[in-house]
Amino acid sequence: MATILSGAWVRDELLKECKPRVERLRQRARPPGLAVVLAGNDPASEIYVRNKVKACQELGIHSEKLTPPESVTTEELLRLVDALNRREEIDGILVQAPLPRQVDGSRVLLAVTPEKDVDGFHPLNLGRLMTGRPGPRACTPAGIMELLARYEIPIKGQRAVVLGRSDIVGKPMAMLLMHQHATVTICHSRTRNLEEEAARADILVAAMGRPALVTAGFIKPGATVIDVGMNRIASREEAARIFSSAPQKLAAFERNGSVLVGDVHPVDVVERAAAYTPVPGGVGPMTVAMLMVNTVEAAERRLGVCSG
Ligand code: NAP
Repeated sequence: MATILSGAWVRDELLKECKPRVERLRQRARPPGLAVVLAGNDPASEIYVRNKVKACQELGIHSEKLTPPESVTTEELLRLVDALNRREEIDGILVQAPLPRQVDGSRVLLAVTPEKDVDGFHPLNLGRLMTGRPGPRACTPAGIMELLARYEIPIKGQRAVVLGRSDIVGKPMAMLLMHQHATVTICHSRTRNLEEEAARADILVAAMGRPALVTAGFIKPGATVIDVGMNRIASREEAARIFSSAPQKLAAFERNGSVLVGDVHPVDVVERAAAYTPVPGGVGPMTVAMLMVNTVEAAERRLGVCSG
């Protein structure tokens, strides 16, 4: 029986560990502060931001949501970020992606001062990651490493394959696994024989945004499979194709008119893997938890309060 790697459980553990650190900061100086910039009206982003603000409230972290309109310009966002960079009581700044089309996203991300870059996206922090220096790590890959650690999944000497090479998931994921001494292969849309590459993995991380693309043949029997994909399926035909052998998922689709699926086939993974993250409830909760950890750490660094 495959082990389910529960992100919800690890998230709760992480948040429990954050609480006394927030309390110490509050007693010695002030609570940590996180500013979230949500530009425009992307419905998925609104849900992600709501979850982040809620996690802050639960922990006693001060949070602010800034909501410039869909028509916001790059210059306006740069001014907003600059103002947040200057505010003493704000330790972390998160600019929620995707930004409206007319905005130069890379200029905006570059404008966030590296010490408040709780997403770990700033090139300076990516350089720190690359060279193994301390600094904020991108939340999703850092959350996956935490999940692997808490479930005592061996990494050293293991063959890891990362499907996807984005700056926010695939590349930092590969780097973190390599720093823990895995032998890492990164695959992408031009990779030849994707299935063959994937099937060599002891640890397979799927981060492509391709619903249920990873089927039985991609999964080495006994592998650990991490599914980063979050794909909302709204077509009945597609749902019926993917979930022909998963009546519960089909029923969920019928109830809600859509269903969330990862990049990994939810039935095949149970049959082949030794351990896997479910969608939802796997990687997703870890991302928010790591954002909280990064915010607390930024506050501790800025206020000179040690983690105890
Ligand atoms: P992204 O920027 O679109 O990158 C996707 C990567 O997958 C690219 O490197 C792309 O290759 C590769 N790819 C796409 N189709 C492929 C195919 N058919 N075969 C092989 N490689 C393929 O996406 P992302 O931001 O990394 O996110 C990936 C997924 O993770 C999305 O579903 C996203 O919603 C989800 N996500 C979830 C969380 C969470 O908290 N659970 C956090 C972040 C992201 P090229 O580089 O060659 O184009």
